[in-house]
Amino acid sequence: MRTVARTPRMRSLHLRVAGWPGHRAGQHVDLRLTAEDGYQAVRSYSIASAPGEPLVELAVERLEGGEVSPYLVDEARAGDRFEVRGPLGGYFVWGAADGGPLFLAAGGSGIAPLMAMVREAARVAVPFRLLYSCRTLADVAYREQLAGHDVKVALTRAQPAGWAGYSRRVDPAMLREVAWPPPAGALSYVCGPSGFVEAVAGGLAALGHPPGSIRTERFGPTG
Ligand SMILES: Cc1cc2nc3c(=O)[nH]c(=O)nc-3n(C[C@H](O)[C@H](O)[C@H](O)COP(=O)(O)OP(=O)(O)OC[C@H]3O[C@@H](n4cnc5c(N)ncnc54)[C@H](O)[C@@H]3O)c2cc1C
Repeated sequence: MRTVARTPRMRSLHLRVAGWPGHRAGQHVDLRLTAEDGYQAVRSYSIASAPGEPLVELAVERLEGGEVSPYLVDEARAGDRFEVRGPLGGYFVWGAADGGPLFLAAGGSGIAPLMAMVREAARVAVPFRLLYSCRTLADVAYREQLAGHDVKVALTRAQPAGWAGYSRRVDPAMLREVAWPPPAGALSYVCGPSGFVEAVAGGLAALGHPPGSIRTERFGPTG
């Protein structure tokens, strides 16, 4: 494993998984950690790497007070070993055969599975637009990889001087600007905290996106 800091609160873990069968964009893995006293914890993490990449990239955001994510972001080191189960999930997935164009909406660490879709869509030249909501500019991950693509950023807590993006949480007016009218064949993928997912998915449906074209994944609390 090697690690890359994405933001002050998010770190990518690039895992070499023996016998990895490959994955579809949008899928996740279950990661099991075992402490020296035998205590175990399992958490789900989405795969941020594109299908076909040799290492499995996870992008973990530190949840203050959490049991597992602070360890993965602050303590995990190259060479560490984890138990990985996956790839998992057959609904929140996208591949070129599913068509497009894509409307992607990420709240915070919800960017992880959408990066797999961004990378795959760019590779196969399917047009996409990404709406990415973060607390502050420092929380915006993958800025280099997203540069030059059709990306709209909303900063909900603080904005730098001269900020030209959105400065509020996602709302119906914002969705009307970025996702209306729905292009023919459009597919939407929405991922993040439950409140974000509900606001975006409900807003898209209200704008006339067919319900069957909107897929969601919630990074809600575990347990
Ligand atoms: C399918 C799936 C994919 C996921 N992919 C990612 C990913 O790519 N990157 C990533 O960073 N996380 C992802 N998550 C969330 C991840 O599984 C953990 O829930 C998260 O890392 C927190 O674990 P923890 O042990 O640090 O916190 P815990 O010790 O489990 O929880 C600490 C406290 O925070 C609350 N809580 C737990 N999870 C969340 C959350 N996500 N949002 C708000 N409050 C929460 C708990 O109720 C508890 O009160 C995913 C979750 C699912 C279900």
